Amino acid sequence: MRKNIVAGNWKMNKNLQEGLALATELNEVLAGAELKCDVVIGTPFIHLASVAAAIDTTKIGVAAQNCANHESGAYTGEISASMVKSTGANYVILGHSERRAYYGETAELLKTKTELALANGLTPIFCIGEVLEERESGVFFDIVKGQIVDSLFELSVEDFGKIVLAYEPVWAIGTGKTASAAQAQEIHAFIRATVAAKYGEAVAQNTSILYGGSCNAGNAKELFANPDVDGGLIGGAALKVADFKAIIDAF
Ligand code: PEP
Repeated sequence: MRKNIVAGNWKMNKNLQEGLALATELNEVLAGAELKCDVVIGTPFIHLASVAAAIDTTKIGVAAQNCANHESGAYTGEISASMVKSTGANYVILGHSERRAYYGETAELLKTKTELALANGLTPIFCIGEVLEERESGVFFDIVKGQIVDSLFELSVEDFGKIVLAYEPVWAIGTGKTASAAQAQEIHAFIRATVAAKYGEAVAQNTSILYGGSCNAGNAKELFANPDVDGGLIGGAALKVADFKAIIDAF
């Protein structure tokens, strides 16, 4: 059966010392806790190796927030999936709306990054989601389906089975506006049906689909209570241990 996951996305926050302190504090707080979900923290690249060495990675997974679309070579400034893996990280967030919007990441590029992540033993947390106009005009189902089909539906059934999806309506990210529990359930059920139509019901039932977008201690319980919401991708609220722990405790 699919896993429930609460994953933090630190974005470009915290210098190395601050990040290590945050990860270490979370590690201490979770050490004695009986968790009802998997926990992942998505740190900046430079934190990955130090954070992975400082925490119990059997309890807290470590994610990069991106990886290169090439295996290796003359790509100055880039970080490959194999480099990410060598730090002790096991996940990579791909297709975040900020990377799509500010760095021009296309479906084709994300397809390549996903394939490289999988080939290097990383679990992609693949983000999808519509902007406000697409929500308001009602085309959001087609947009979200297109994002999945265009980047992921050439994967083998075995590889697709390793993907975690994160539905993040762009209008809810960092805005304090959250999708209602009913809106989240509606689109998550649609995403699962889309996966089922391509890969079959068993694969769809095993796929974790996270919700992201201003998820916090106050709304996590209601969101996670939906049958097709399998956890959250958490931005702002992942930067304070008490807030993040309260979301983890929503399970
Ligand atoms: C995110 O960036 O993935 C996110 C969900 O951010 P926030 O929780 O701050 O809306």
